[in-house]
Amino acid sequence: MAWGIMPGQEGIWKRLQRELERGRPAPAYLFSGPEGVGKRLLAERWSAALLCAQEGSGAPCGECRSCRLLAAGGHPHFHLLQPEREGSLGLAAIRRLAEELWRSAPGYQVAVLDHAEALTLEAQNAMLKLLEEPPPRTCQVLLTARPEALLSTVRSRCREIKFGPLPRRVVIAWLEERGYSVEEAMGLAALAGGSLTRAASLCQERVREWRERALELLLQPRLHRLLSWEEVKDRELAETILDFCAFWVRDLLLYQLTQNRQELLNRDREETFWEEVQLAPEYLLAAGELLQRARQWLRSRVRPAACLEGLVVGLMEERRNNGGAGGRNPLPQGG
Ligand SMILES: [Zn+2]
Repeated sequence: MAWGIMPGQEGIWKRLQRELERGRPAPAYLFSGPEGVGKRLLAERWSAALLCAQEGSGAPCGECRSCRLLAAGGHPHFHLLQPEREGSLGLAAIRRLAEELWRSAPGYQVAVLDHAEALTLEAQNAMLKLLEEPPPRTCQVLLTARPEALLSTVRSRCREIKFGPLPRRVVIAWLEERGYSVEEAMGLAALAGGSLTRAASLCQERVREWRERALELLLQPRLHRLLSWEEVKDRELAETILDFCAFWVRDLLLYQLTQNRQELLNRDREETFWEEVQLAPEYLLAAGELLQRARQWLRSRVRPAACLEGLVVGLMEERRNNGGAGGRNPLPQGG
């Protein structure tokens, strides 16, 4: 088997490869960048290359005993740490890792810490010791989408490698492989912002439904729908809904200005839809501000459902004031 490279991240791999060819890999790396852009994939490839018995090629051979052990998930010198779902990475895990790394072993030992932002403060301090005096012939790779959650002393001990969002064509190809039409894939990829994690979550039926409800919220903000926002218990979902609303607002304004669907994020929506929606630009601009306000509430720990309810009330008022005189709504009435 071969350890792949996420298309679009070849440049980062070349850089790592050069370090290996010169025989100078750093004892610690920090792979930082958004979720779903191939950090873990590259960390696994990098681990395989460090552990591979075939030296000099700068890439894992895929055939030696070490490569086979790693592929089978049983390499004794490869340590993968990751938090349990929504959990943290504690001191005990780092202490165990330190013991393993200090146990002398022939060849390299590699540790990959996925979601390093989940390290508790105690664990980060223990990690710092390990980074300050790394055991010989070891490489520790920390992966995170939130480098700011790490102590600056931890960060400064690692060679940081920054991952950017994936090119849109990569996300489109990934979605097409999963059976989406080109048009749908282009629309979803635009919303995914270069992250496969986000693209995957957009594919879930439930999330698609929230995108529709975000639209409905803008077109027909109604009090008797308030109760249904009570379902929104977690902050992340509320953020997603606000994102969706913001994307709709952006697109509706943009379409009014340019009548061009190419630059739209929700471009998977048929052309007639864009022509039919007629919301006054004043309303859309006010909606943008209301969305900002709802976001601030969310950050200041207001209950997610309450943030959305506040948004609905604000939108209703704006809709009354400058709602789109003579405008038509492509949504079915009633409900
Ligand atoms: Zn090998």
